This record gives sequence, structure tokens and C-alpha cells, in this order.
Amino acid sequence: MNAPVETLPPAESTAPTAEVALPPPAPLIIRMLRTMRVWIDSHSSMQSEADGKVPLKVDWFRLAPFIGVHLACFSVIWVGWSWVAVGVALGLYVLRMFAITGFYHRYFSHRTYSTSRVFQFIMGCIGNSSVQRGPLWWAAHHRHHHRYSDMPEDSHSPRQHGFWWAHVGWVSAHANFRTDMKAVPDLAKFPELVLLDRFDTTIPFLMGVGMFFLGYVLNIWYPALGTSGLQMLVWGFFISTVAVAHGTFTVNSLTHLWGKQVYPSNDDSKNSLLIALITLGEGWHNNHHYYQSSVRQGFRWWQIDITYYGLWCMSKVGLIWGLKPVPAKVIADAGKLMDKPAAA
Ligand SMILES: [Zn+2]
Ligand SMILES: [Zn+2]
Repeated sequence: MNAPVETLPPAESTAPTAEVALPPPAPLIIRMLRTMRVWIDSHSSMQSEADGKVPLKVDWFRLAPFIGVHLACFSVIWVGWSWVAVGVALGLYVLRMFAITGFYHRYFSHRTYSTSRVFQFIMGCIGNSSVQRGPLWWAAHHRHHHRYSDMPEDSHSPRQHGFWWAHVGWVSAHANFRTDMKAVPDLAKFPELVLLDRFDTTIPFLMGVGMFFLGYVLNIWYPALGTSGLQMLVWGFFISTVAVAHGTFTVNSLTHLWGKQVYPSNDDSKNSLLIALITLGEGWHNNHHYYQSSVRQGFRWWQIDITYYGLWCMSKVGLIWGLKPVPAKVIADAGKLMDKPAAA
């Protein structure tokens, strides 16, 4: 078929399926205590969910921290703003969006370049600070998306489930909470990454505390900046985190709805400059679905791909290497194959 080159490790299993017969639920208090344990140790529920026979419905209690982070943004009404707090929020948006696209997506999910084991772990930690779970969970779900893109099995396909489910609903589903280790055997062999994935709220928690103390110390040492512990917490952690989350989510929702297809990728993926700017390069989603192996997603010089520019700079100082290029034929084929029916 005119299909993308598949470079992902072979799947040993598929992800959870929906709506099957379940044993009777445990009492509410037991379920709440189990959920609270999962907030700290995300793998503590993997055994019970390992068979994937869990429903595709929103688990509101487990979702409470996610909702809480959104609600906390409204406290900006009371804490106000300052240039330094907004600047920190913006800087952390760029850094953490880069970590999601450059590390979680292009490295952990697709292995489009190489690095050392130590720097791999550092990339995992920075990615984890984006509050989008651990690197194994993220990569497992993303690989599943590519395998079943816009088919009924796809967890976040707007074609299958509508905009809101593709954007944010799917992360709230009980069936999508667990990490499918069989989808990431190449990552699961590193115990430090498994540990990071398991305790995936530790770094976000420390980051929130760090933001509070940053604002607190700045308030004492440089009162003219007009910030405070709570103000920095709200801007640097809550607002920045929500912005990174929804920026990332647009790739799952809008890039399968808006934009232009230039490659027959056998799904609804599209290219969008606007989303490429919001997400530092992920908006060239049709390019990416067609050819996943490349570290670049903007295949043409004018397709702005800030993540690629950052990764290129990192390769020049030796932090990463072996960046996989886009074959010239793939670039030349843009727009030429659309009218040809995809072969089986
Ligand atoms: Zn991808
Ligand atoms: Zn996609």
C-alpha cells in the first residue's frame, strides 16, 4: 500500500477493548482508596486491569486531580499576575511542549534518534514534568493510535468517537489508564523508566512545590517583581500545565479534523500550520502518519517544525545522535499520490 514505513516494535497485544461483562464492583470506599493509591503508584492497578476488560467510560474520581488542575487555574482571579510569573509559565510551556513532542513522541514512541541511557532517563523526567503520565504509558497509547488510526480500536479518533472524546474524553476512560507494557517492550527493559512510569505523579508534585518556593523566594529577594508563591504556582504550574495538555490534545483531535492531506495515510490525519505553531511542529500530522520514522515532521523547508530545530541543535552538542531523515522520495511524493487508490 502507499503506506507509511512502520518502524515500531511489533505489538504483542492490542489495547483494551470496550464494554464486556465485569465482576461485581467493590464497595465505593474500597474503590476510592484503590484510586487514591493509583494517584501515587499508577501501576498498582495494572494487575486488575491487565486483561483489558474494563469499560470505556469516564472514571470521575480517578480524574479528580486532572479536573483539580483545571479548576486551580481560576484562582488567578485572586493571585493576579506579574511579568515574571507569566514569563515562567510561557517558558515552561515551550520547554514541556518540546519534551512531549521531542522526547515522548519522537524518541520514546517512535525512536527516531538515539541517545545515552542517562540522557534517555533525563528526557523521561522532563517529559513527565508535563503531567501527561509516564513515558511508557504515553508511548504505548501513541503506538496503539498509529496501529489503529481512525479505526474502531483507535482510542482517540474523532471519526470514531467525536471531537471531545478524541480531545480529552479518552484520557478520562478507565480502560485507558493502565500502561500496556507489551506495547513498549523496548522501553520496559529499563527499570528506571518503569519506575518513572509507575510513580508518574512524583515529578509533577515536586514541580508544583518548586514553583511555589520560586515565587516565595522571589517575593522576599526581589519584591519589585510583584510575584508570590501562590501566584507562581498558579501560572508556572497550573496554567502552563493545562495549556501544554490542551495543546497536545489538539494533535489527537484537530489534526484528524482540520487541515490538508498531502499523503494517502489511510486515515484522517491532516497538516495544519496553526497546530504546528501551537505544538512546536506536531501539526504536520499527515506527513507523520505517512512516514513515522523521521525525526522531522515538517518535511518541506517552509513547514515550520520547532521541535526538529531543537533536536538538531541537541545533536550538534552531542546529547543525541542518529537523527533519522526523511527520504527524498517521500518528500517528492507529497500531493502526488492522493488520487491513487491505496493498495491492500
Ligand atoms: Zn506518532
Ligand atoms: Zn494521529
